[in-house]
Amino acid sequence: MKGNVVTQTLSQSVLLVDDSPDIHLLVPARLGSERLTIHHAYNAVDGLSDAKTHQPDLILLDLDMPDIDGLTLCAQLKADKDLVGIPVIFLTGILDVATKVKAFELGAIDYVTKPFDGVELKARVRSALRTKRYHDMLSTKAQIDALTGLWNRRYLDDHLGAEVSALRRRPGALSLLMVDIDHFKHINDTYGHPVGDSVIQEVAEEIKQMSRKSDIVCRYGGEEFAVILKDTDSADALIIAERLREKIFMRDFSDGRKKLRVTVSIGIASSDQLAPDMVLPGAIIEAADRTLYRAKTEGRNRICFQAHSAQGITSGLSWH
Ligand code: GH3
Ligand code: MG
Ligand code: MG
Repeated sequence: MKGNVVTQTLSQSVLLVDDSPDIHLLVPARLGSERLTIHHAYNAVDGLSDAKTHQPDLILLDLDMPDIDGLTLCAQLKADKDLVGIPVIFLTGILDVATKVKAFELGAIDYVTKPFDGVELKARVRSALRTKRYHDMLSTKAQIDALTGLWNRRYLDDHLGAEVSALRRRPGALSLLMVDIDHFKHINDTYGHPVGDSVIQEVAEEIKQMSRKSDIVCRYGGEEFAVILKDTDSADALIIAERLREKIFMRDFSDGRKKLRVTVSIGIASSDQLAPDMVLPGAIIEAADRTLYRAKTEGRNRICFQAHSAQGITSGLSWH
């Protein structure tokens, strides 16, 4: 029964953790009209692992369960950075004040006493899910760059680690491109800040267009972009980077009256070109930064990447 999906479809999902089979029949029946996906767990251990697997929008948690009780599971959920944002509503029999207080202290947002009224349960679930939806919207918004609509640096920092960990679980390579507009200060100084802004937006647009759905495209800083290319080794990353460099070089930018030529320099770091113990988020960013710096010093409007040598020393290769 673990992970069993009873009610299919739509955006939000609920994980029900309760040792009583009756509750697993009753809750979906009461919430039937809410069009939710409901996952079922019958003990705290399964509850914790199902929460990690399904990342539900709400957990309905029984207080009294054999072995590990609901309060303990709630504390475990709130101690996990990936699960802490999931609201928890306790389902419980008679509740003394001290236990209620403890439940709220542990981070529960609400409780419903059994035997519960269907209308009340529905109202409380609805309210918790609404709050979760707003919360998700705000946290997504906080990770989007306002000028370009790309992910921001915080998003990259949050996700590069996960992508690098995924590499350890399956074969394949990952590449990171650092793309920086050349002599951008000159563009600002000559044509003004608004033209500078629109150049940033157009470069962002080119990067978005050349990227695949699975890639993570970020505005890393003022006029610098970072692109995580999943399942992409150094040879393919080089082709993608060169295509991008050329597209930007060929594109007619404008200051409103006349055409502007804009170029970018690109640094590439690929997991297949790094020593295995260097395949870490910080080291990958540093390697891409280093190659970008090299592309700048070698004349700009070019790509640099690192080639792994027999000694484990990396040397910058330039591509123009
Ligand atoms: P390089 O070729 O070495 O990259 O030189 P650069 O002039 O592009 O780099 P530098 O770091 O010296 O200057 C970047 C400038 O970008 C400085 C900053 O004022 C400007 N900038 C940062 N964010 C924005 C923005 O959002 N809009 C505009 N218009 N300018 C920005
Ligand atoms: Mg620049
Ligand atoms: Mg810069």
